[in-house]
Amino acid sequence: MYQPPSDPVNKAKHLKTSQLCELCHSRKAVIKRPKNLMKICKECFYYVFETEIHNTIVSNNLFYKGERVAVGASGGKDSTVLAYVLKLLNERHQYGIEIVLLSIDEGIVGYRDDSLATVKRNQKQYELPLEIVSYRDLYNWTMDEIVACAGVRNSCTYCGVFRRQALDRGANKLNIAHVVTGHNADDMAETVLMNILRGDVARLEKSTAIMTISAGSPVKRSKPFKYSYQKEIVLYAHYKKLDYFSTECTYAPEAFRGTARELMKNLEAIRPSCIIDIIHSGENLVLKPKKQKKQTVKSKNVKKTELNTQEQELEVRTDGTVSLNFKDGNRCERCGYLSSNKICKACTLLEGLAANRAKVQLDLDTSTDGAAKVVRDLEKLSF
Ligand code: SF4
Ligand SMILES: [Zn+2]
Ligand SMILES: [Zn+2]
Repeated sequence: MYQPPSDPVNKAKHLKTSQLCELCHSRKAVIKRPKNLMKICKECFYYVFETEIHNTIVSNNLFYKGERVAVGASGGKDSTVLAYVLKLLNERHQYGIEIVLLSIDEGIVGYRDDSLATVKRNQKQYELPLEIVSYRDLYNWTMDEIVACAGVRNSCTYCGVFRRQALDRGANKLNIAHVVTGHNADDMAETVLMNILRGDVARLEKSTAIMTISAGSPVKRSKPFKYSYQKEIVLYAHYKKLDYFSTECTYAPEAFRGTARELMKNLEAIRPSCIIDIIHSGENLVLKPKKQKKQTVKSKNVKKTELNTQEQELEVRTDGTVSLNFKDGNRCERCGYLSSNKICKACTLLEGLAANRAKVQLDLDTSTDGAAKVVRDLEKLSF
């Protein structure tokens, strides 16, 4: 059993009590813990930070012995610390998992190329296998080309859809069914806030899940940093001198998320526990069951060109809109990827891009067709 670090040489005798670590009471406090403002020493900080992650992993049964797990590695601080801590905890507590780094190359010059160089160094430093999957190979588009074609405003919509599928395909190539990501407590609280602010009840329900398993993906995803504060991850990376890449993506993240982030930061400055409090609120929200009439139809009753031969579920929503939910195992007609619709999200976006490839559109606000329209149409589709 791993024990908190002891004080081998009692160097702290000359220190005033107020300067001592509030946990071990023997070493000098050098860190004010962002999570609870406790003044602690470096060694105790490492111990509590790592142990809290271990407790999250164990209490949520994230792994099983012999499981192959891919760390979604971007070279940024979150995924770098995740790879480092996961390797350390795997050895310390004998989880018995096999860790692989899985990186996505979106094709963003000046950002992803530099951050991938960091991942390659991490691969050597942590002695972990690395697999890189690129948008260019999968979709024949880079994010730079997509932005040139569809504008910067929708960059994260495209990138998010393509990354999800790229991670699945990368994991599949490695014969791995579990991807862990570096999403931290701040990210999660931000997502809860965003979903509350825009009344997105469907997403709100799922926004605090530590593990997500979806019918549209063969790969489960989990977030061992669900309760880890961003500031503590940065402190840990700093004191451990981890090699990470800190430049932001060239394409600004969603404006709305940026505003929610700002709001979170202001709240955190007044009350540090608000990050965990928002997550707890999200976890304990009980949403009213959806009112919906359901009827099952056989595809023989429906036009053959529209549906495949499997049984599908017709969902009539309270607002009168209708969606067809395909049972598990349906695949995109074009790329063969799991999809609840005839054509998967990525292929729908690629179709819009192909139509637009010739003309470079910079102003999406005034556009009524092409890639911008596809994004709007996509938002209306039910997946
Ligand atoms: S900020 Fe947007 S475009 Fe850049 S990597 Fe993230 S999702 Fe992709
Ligand atoms: Zn201490
Ligand atoms: Zn597809």
